[in-house]
Amino acid sequence: MTATIIDGKAFAAQVRAQVTTHVAMLKEKGIVPGLAVVLVGNDPASDVYVTSKGKMTREVGMEGFEHRLPDTTSEADLLALIDQLNQDDKVHGILVQLPLPAHMDSAKVINALDPAKDVDGFHILNVGLLGTGQKAMVPCTPLGSLMMLRDHHGSLSGLHAVVLGRSNIVGKPMAQLLLNDSCTVTIAHSRTKDLPALCRTADILVAAVGRPEMVTGDWIKPGATVIDVGINRIERDGKKRLMGDVEFASAAAVAGAITPVPGGVGPMTIACLLANTVTACCRANGLAEPEGLTP
Ligand code: NDP
Repeated sequence: MTATIIDGKAFAAQVRAQVTTHVAMLKEKGIVPGLAVVLVGNDPASDVYVTSKGKMTREVGMEGFEHRLPDTTSEADLLALIDQLNQDDKVHGILVQLPLPAHMDSAKVINALDPAKDVDGFHILNVGLLGTGQKAMVPCTPLGSLMMLRDHHGSLSGLHAVVLGRSNIVGKPMAQLLLNDSCTVTIAHSRTKDLPALCRTADILVAAVGRPEMVTGDWIKPGATVIDVGINRIERDGKKRLMGDVEFASAAAVAGAITPVPGGVGPMTIACLLANTVTACCRANGLAEPEGLTP
């Protein structure tokens, strides 16, 4: 079997086009959706993400506000900035780039966000709303992965999904979304026994472990759909490259469908951030949300 490649880059372009159309409609009503991104410190990978998020925000016609603070910033000063952004009517979405410097309490900072502006979906209220199947802001990476799965399968009802990884950012919300779509969900992690055998029972396998090429073709049930969330920066043959958590060639020979790295989940994550910002803006103004961009 040779798997269908799920093209996240093309899908993300469609999502951005839909966001662009909706932003234009909002602008006709005199409303400009705004996304504020806060970066503390000068971590090079975070810096690249923040620059790229700002560029994409402006490309879809939204207003982007970047706040770059030195790593010596106190937690109190960061909380004061968040309070200011919470009050600012021009700001509909706020993203605090993680990780924060070690002297800050990330949970305290994230929970200081107005939950309605929490476009990353990490605020404890949004976690609870998602967990109880209510309208929430949903974390971007799992949301993008769910969109691709729904697009490929139609209904996910009754499928067995194995989620490798139990982080608050990817694994847990991914499992929750799949459960809300009536999958039978198993969450696996570093203490799970006989991972390959468990993975071979999955109709849907989501890999979010941060281990380059850990999942190989012999872990995959023939015809299964594989979503590779992993982004691992490695150096091979003297060249720097991005690698997923799945060994693509052997997996693609067995799976029914698979997302590549790069060009799979990554582009969908940023597209969903923009989608969440438009959704937040519509909710703030009591207007209809764009269709298909929320679970
Ligand atoms: P974390 O490090 O927070 O979590 C990793 C999870 O994988 C943990 O639950 C851990 O288990 C589990 N794990 C680690 N090693 C093994 C192993 N050998 N066997 C089984 N389980 C294991 O990572 P994130 O969830 O934040 O990210 C996961 C990956 O996704 C990374 O590569 C990251 O770069 C990528 N990512 C990609 C995004 C995108 O836009 N495409 C966005 C966010 C992340 P335990 O809990 O037991 O330690």
